[in-house]
Amino acid sequence: MGRLFIGYTEYDMSKLTLLVVEDEDAIRDMLAMVLEQSGYEVCPAADAEQAQKALDERVPDLILLDWMLPGISGVEWARRLKKDLNYREIPIILLTARGEEEDKVRGLEIGADDYMTKPFSPKELAARIRAVLRRTGKIQDLVQITLGDLTLDTEQHRLTIGDKQLEVSPTEFRLMQFFMMHPDKVCSRTYLLDQVWGRSVYIEERTVDVHIRRLRKILGEYGREDLVQTVRGFGYRFSLAN
Ligand code: CA
Repeated sequence: MGRLFIGYTEYDMSKLTLLVVEDEDAIRDMLAMVLEQSGYEVCPAADAEQAQKALDERVPDLILLDWMLPGISGVEWARRLKKDLNYREIPIILLTARGEEEDKVRGLEIGADDYMTKPFSPKELAARIRAVLRRTGKIQDLVQITLGDLTLDTEQHRLTIGDKQLEVSPTEFRLMQFFMMHPDKVCSRTYLLDQVWGRSVYIEERTVDVHIRRLRKILGEYGREDLVQTVRGFGYRFSLAN
């Protein structure tokens, strides 16, 4: 089974790894920062040689590859990878400053999965990466989760108990998403902060308590405040069983 993405949040504990091959330091750093914020593990490389070393150590889930690199060009390295039985399945997105249709065709012909012309927005990049990961079966989208009489629909952004719709804030909705995907898992506040709010956000652990309290209050209106349980000295657990 692939990893699950809901909206822009990855809910699998093992992160997807992206190998980013770009010789310009500023662009490479920017890409790494943006992608780490999106929840990916980033492995940076400045040229094909470094990238090959990284690859031999760990096979990434996707390669972002600059077309123009010193030494072996990106497009040449991509061609080699696509001929290599060990690496041919790794999706590749070629990055280029050249926007000519001819280049695009050439890039796709050698087996690249997508092609992006610089400059591009982080949002566009994230969307294209997700599209390629989805197409290659690395991730799958989850639209609806049902547990007992609870249903969470991420497309309609609705949380229901039976046929009653609950009024929850976006944060509480994400919290419920996480809980419903990990029933019975005991989670520390730090862990919840990491998974629900994201690693790049710095907020106090107390914030988790505040949102849990609100969530319980809302669930309590339906007599279900016991769904979110306190695990003393540790954190919280979402469970349908008492
Ligand atoms: Ca370059």
